[in-house]
Amino acid sequence: MSLEQPLVQRPQPTERDVALIVRQYTLCTSLLEELFKLAPDECWTFDGVGCCASATKTLVEKGLQGPAYETLMRLRGQRSESYGHLPRDIEEACPYHTEQGCVLGELKSPLCISHYCRGKIEGVFDSDYVYDTLKRILEGNLDPETGLYHPEKNWKIVLELRRYVKELIFQFEYRPGCLRK
Ligand code: SF4
Repeated sequence: MSLEQPLVQRPQPTERDVALIVRQYTLCTSLLEELFKLAPDECWTFDGVGCCASATKTLVEKGLQGPAYETLMRLRGQRSESYGHLPRDIEEACPYHTEQGCVLGELKSPLCISHYCRGKIEGVFDSDYVYDTLKRILEGNLDPETGLYHPEKNWKIVLELRRYVKELIFQFEYRPGCLRK
């Protein structure tokens, strides 16, 4: 009997899989950014620094995973470089946070984009749902039996999340009475 263990093949996503995952993710996060521009988290805008200032590097990547991880990290690096180095007076602060706020926009991690502490959609914004769905999108729907990714099967959850965020935007714009005063 051979003592050799069978090689475990690491699933290899195609370029098309990665491109589709990035597209699905940013379709959701762009809409969330729109929502947060309408209903910003009071912590974020507290003094131009906000609660982000205490986030560590590991924390700001929380939820970023799956086949598109490297691509998203590269895009985040490029975005950050395009803003140039902004001097910060807070040690260990998040590297993407500037005196004008976060430079990442739709490239924020699931943790960052789903975090909402205080503001007008507090109580109606379901951070856990948003975080879990974004993570599932990034996982790319791996079939463990074949080792193939099927991000195209994630369109349903992408559209559900977008519908959820659009409804919040609608409430904010047309039915503000539903939201926190
Ligand atoms: S990446 Fe952006 S949202 Fe996340 S902690 Fe840094 S500045 Fe805040």
